[in-house]
Amino acid sequence: MTVLAARSHARPTVHVDLAAVAANTRVFAALVPGALMAVVKADGFGHGAEAVARTALANGASWLGVTSLDEAFALRETGLRAPVLSWLNPVDADFDAAILAGIDVAVPSEAHLRAVVAAGLGAHAAVRVHLHLDVGMSRDGAPPAQWDQLCLAAAAAQRAGAVQVVGVMGHLGHADVPGHPANATSRSVFGWGLGVARSVGLRPPLRHLAATAATLTDRAAHHNLSRVGAGLIGIDPSRSTRLSPALSLSAPVVGVRRVPAGATVGYGGAWQAERESTLALLPLGYADGVPRAASGRAEVLLRGRRRLVVGLVSMDQVVVDLGDDHVELGEVATIFGPGHQGEPTAAEWALWAGTIEHEIVTGIGPRVIRSVVR
Ligand SMILES: *Cc1c(COP(=O)(O)O)cnc(C)c1O
Repeated sequence: MTVLAARSHARPTVHVDLAAVAANTRVFAALVPGALMAVVKADGFGHGAEAVARTALANGASWLGVTSLDEAFALRETGLRAPVLSWLNPVDADFDAAILAGIDVAVPSEAHLRAVVAAGLGAHAAVRVHLHLDVGMSRDGAPPAQWDQLCLAAAAAQRAGAVQVVGVMGHLGHADVPGHPANATSRSVFGWGLGVARSVGLRPPLRHLAATAATLTDRAAHHNLSRVGAGLIGIDPSRSTRLSPALSLSAPVVGVRRVPAGATVGYGGAWQAERESTLALLPLGYADGVPRAASGRAEVLLRGRRRLVVGLVSMDQVVVDLGDDHVELGEVATIFGPGHQGEPTAAEWALWAGTIEHEIVTGIGPRVIRSVVR
């Protein structure tokens, strides 16, 4: 049995292809009847929020969207001046700072409205708000039963000069299944919500319901702003459109060994060699975003061919079976990429791990080196 020590300067690296982000953005910019918001939450779905934001803004997006105010402040700190909406915050979030930074906030409840109004009155400035209606997910947004009251309170706050209601938003729970009856129901709830807002005197210039899937498949959901995140980085939950995946993950071979038939690999000996085989060791594991749940099914591309990941994925390492093929230390394996060279895609990893692509691309750990290709 030969065991070779690792000596490679290459490290596990995630490559972000901004040309893919640019191409995807142009697909959406051409589709939307109104404005396009680039959703860059969770560090731009793991691709780098600033890089994705700048690329999207240069290719047809005019808005940025994030979950928390902290994410919005981080965008402002990079010098980005485009309109930014933050839609999920605790009631005691720093709305004073949001006013100073010129960030729009979503308001999902009267409690949030009171907090935002207090900030606006304190700053002698109207906070730009988007009233958020729950159109069926029972998650974020005001339940329809509380919508009338929220709209009335917002209209009063607007008359008092504490807020400016610039938008009404909703979010679809079944947009990845075009034609699902819940989409029509949610669209009507949203339409009803807009009517209620109008009836109390609000005239929100922005009305937004569609994210990636509905923007691609459901014109009736478009309204005049689309919030697109996954699509920009090449994920289409509706599987209706060919987009360009923007992320690749690679790692160098740091160990090579020949094992006899019967050798077992990793914790619990979950895989056993049926015959003498060459095994390659890659220095990344579930702490780096390689899902342990994909153990036993996952493959990587190494030396131009798909190779099975054998044994359980460890925290820091995975082992790949090469059969009788040879491999040198330092040769680079592609864990996933757009698939152009035959490498697995994030979609395949998602299938192997029983999850969705979003979780694969947002799960890359902090030890992985980031390389941005412009
Ligand atoms: C994440 C998110 C989006 C973007 O959804 P994609 O399907 O990734 O385009 C839009 N709106 C809200 C409220 C979100 O949470």
